Amino acid sequence: MTEFLIYSKQTFIENAFVEATLHIKDGKIQNVNNGYQKLSNLPFFDYGNLVVIPGIIDAHVHINEPGREDWEGFYTATKAAAMGGVTTLIEMPLNASPVTTTVEAFKLKQNAATNKLHVNCGFYGGTIPSNTNDIEGLIKEGVFGIKGFLTHSGIDEFPNITQKDLEAIAPILKKYDVPLLLHCELSDEDVPEVENPKSYIEYLHSRPQHWETNAIELAIAIQKKFDIKVHIVHLSASKGIELINKAKKETDKLTVETCPQYLFFNAEAIPDASPIFKCAPPIREKANNDKLWSFLQSDGFNFLASDHSPAPPARKQLESGDFFKAWGGISGLQFTLPVLYTECKKRGVKLEKLIPLLTENPAKFLGLENQKGLLKKGFDADITVLDKNEKFKLTETIIEHKHKATPYLNENLNGLVKHVFVNGIQVVNNSKMHKEQQGKLLFNTLNNPF
Ligand SMILES: [Zn+2]
Repeated sequence: MTEFLIYSKQTFIENAFVEATLHIKDGKIQNVNNGYQKLSNLPFFDYGNLVVIPGIIDAHVHINEPGREDWEGFYTATKAAAMGGVTTLIEMPLNASPVTTTVEAFKLKQNAATNKLHVNCGFYGGTIPSNTNDIEGLIKEGVFGIKGFLTHSGIDEFPNITQKDLEAIAPILKKYDVPLLLHCELSDEDVPEVENPKSYIEYLHSRPQHWETNAIELAIAIQKKFDIKVHIVHLSASKGIELINKAKKETDKLTVETCPQYLFFNAEAIPDASPIFKCAPPIREKANNDKLWSFLQSDGFNFLASDHSPAPPARKQLESGDFFKAWGGISGLQFTLPVLYTECKKRGVKLEKLIPLLTENPAKFLGLENQKGLLKKGFDADITVLDKNEKFKLTETIIEHKHKATPYLNENLNGLVKHVFVNGIQVVNNSKMHKEQQGKLLFNTLNNPF
């Protein structure tokens, strides 16, 4: 079935929920009709009061394939994405083996993804000290950005870069107008001695706000000096977003994201010996996170992304409880929408505020703003249908990630993803996988290579 109609009293169009009927044909939104518009010859999905939104675009996901399939893989990650209403994701370059720092490795990754994608999937390339000469090739092959670390990445084959390395690749990024994505922590010795590695507060203090702000200052300086697009991933320190928002007044090439874990959890409530909560930068105190929310409400963040970064439970040190030995990364791709909606409800933030941060805005960042992120005539028919009144408890049985270990386990959440369409095909029906492998590989089409 390639042509059908989707009706709802709450269809998200031009930042408001309105009564509309979407006419889907051959993978695209053929038309957006006001009100209830039944055409006798076409299948008609009457979703009544359910919320119909553009499919979520998650611009920060770690999938680990090829080479670390025991951590996560394309089949499981994109299935989790589909079940969570994520219809497009962009995958990070560091967790596969080989790491995605050469064209050859990028091709291996594309091969690894083939015939496994339940949602659309694009990629970033990586910058490490030794691959300056590979950056242009990666860009020409269609990566959506180049990611680098200013501190140890956790993966030895993906060493961090320095200011000098960044300055060497900046002219290439400028030439193709491709963003540099930076993990902003600049480590130094100005941290307390660790006495109890099972203490969350000691872990938190081992990665202080000033690591983030020092790195952000460097990122802002690089952006200014070369006039390139610079994106700060997974911001956690509220002092960092203050710096970014000040710098943003002078440029629209500086962007920033934060993630559900920084908006949903607070350090004070994280028990000791529970490295399931470990991520870097760390989840900070409630007072910090309240500030992140007020920045979110005043459009301080460009978009939100999951930073899904799973590992086998043994690597999360769940038995030893040692925060310092554990892999830093949180698994949660499938639950971005209900986690954030639940917290929005608690804080009185409207769904209308949240949706663009997960759809239209990441599309803009990725250069997909004429194709994805809105329910608009001519756009790809990537659509998510949410029952915002339905509550559910997050149990292991509903988790589609490769590993069930996630800090969101047993949370009571609001908002159940009911139906999902990818490229005009229904892939999730009544919260169950319906049709597999409808996702496509996505490539960045360069705007101005000269
Ligand atoms: Zn990440």
